[in-house]
Amino acid sequence: MEYCLTEQQKMIKNLARRIAEEKILPVRAALDENEEFPWAIMRDLAESDMFRVFIPEEYDGLGGGCLELCLVVEEISRVCAGVAVSYAVSALGSFTLLEYGTEEQKQKYLPDIASGKKLAAFALTEATAGSDASAIKTTASREKGGYVINGTKQFITNGGDAEIYTVVALTAKEKGARGASMFLVEKETPGFSFGKKERKMGIRSSSTRELVFRDCLIPEENRIGREGTGFIMAMRLFDRSRPGIAAQAVGLAQGALEASVDYARQRIQFGHPIISLQAIQHMLANMATDVEAARALVYATAKTIDSGAKNISMESSMAKVFASDVAMRVTTDAVQIFGGAGYMRDYPVEKMMRDAKIIQIYEGTNQVLRDTIASGLRKRRTTSE
Ligand SMILES: Cc1cc2nc3c(=O)[nH]c(=O)nc-3n(C[C@H](O)[C@H](O)[C@H](O)COP(=O)(O)OP(=O)(O)OC[C@H]3O[C@@H](n4cnc5c(N)ncnc54)[C@H](O)[C@@H]3O)c2cc1C
Repeated sequence: MEYCLTEQQKMIKNLARRIAEEKILPVRAALDENEEFPWAIMRDLAESDMFRVFIPEEYDGLGGGCLELCLVVEEISRVCAGVAVSYAVSALGSFTLLEYGTEEQKQKYLPDIASGKKLAAFALTEATAGSDASAIKTTASREKGGYVINGTKQFITNGGDAEIYTVVALTAKEKGARGASMFLVEKETPGFSFGKKERKMGIRSSSTRELVFRDCLIPEENRIGREGTGFIMAMRLFDRSRPGIAAQAVGLAQGALEASVDYARQRIQFGHPIISLQAIQHMLANMATDVEAARALVYATAKTIDSGAKNISMESSMAKVFASDVAMRVTTDAVQIFGGAGYMRDYPVEKMMRDAKIIQIYEGTNQVLRDTIASGLRKRRTTSE
């Protein structure tokens, strides 16, 4: 389908596809098997200016936004969703700075993210604070002319590999979510270390670690935004970043669809390719329709965000919920179309099915986001608003 992309957007999408096919495809199975962080690919993406696409020109970016990010994430995910999330989370880290950072913070950090010299990460989740992110316990107390951070973050993508961490911590414990603030913490800061690396079902080339803060002193100028606004900033940030994760789902589902068509064309049973069976054709037709619908919703949401629209919790939640459910369904059907072969690691679709599951869970579980969508419906006075 034609989505009226600009010449630059088409160029970005094509370049991302080329990198995915030339650099990622040959190593994706090994990266998954070895649970290895894709450093070489991060360098390839950096050299091709892929980290610049979502950053404004004044900070050494190419001036794109959410849609450009989605195009790149989609193309990488079509080949490997694990590599894609390591890339996408760097954008999540930079969105915080772009939206709420001071000019000094932007000048200090964004050019290095744009060049791909430094990866970023975003740390909100803790052992007792997942869906209920307001239950965080990590504290940042004003001491020694700055803030001293204490606590442990869990399940942090790019943990240990990123250089720049956006961390949400309580500056006023008694106020709960209203006492949360946001901070930038650099990797080498004393008192900041990394806990265990998680062993995951899917997206295994991405790293997911604990962040441990023990009397970690950071300067006052590393606070992003005002004290007490950390939680609300985080929620707004997710509204903006969710289409990127939804694009991960679209790319993954597209990859599974293509693999299924190819396999169904060449697999012979009862003397004919299985693609001649109506049962298989209808599965493929449903998969293709789902993928295209998800893509249309994700691009439309990204364009809405890039147009400057503010209240987009409902739309960005819809994009993430719909696209991730599509990815789960399509990858599961892909395994079915491959039959027994689909269950084997020799073929790509079992990895795709494992990779798809996480997209229904992170950046807000699909259950919680359905609540967000329903709450948006309740608040809007008429359905046409
Ligand atoms: C691989 C991976 C990478 C991640 N990366 C990051 C990262 O970079 N940064 C970060 O901060 N976090 C990250 N996370 C955390 C992720 O966002 C959380 O796992 C997610 O928000 C869910 O929280 P939880 O795991 O504690 O599940 P829980 O909140 O314990 O949920 C358990 C179940 O209960 C349901 N549930 C909970 N509350 C409700 C409710 N109110 N209504 C309906 N159902 C509900 C959930 O939907 C789910 O099915 C990552 C997680 C994983 C697994």
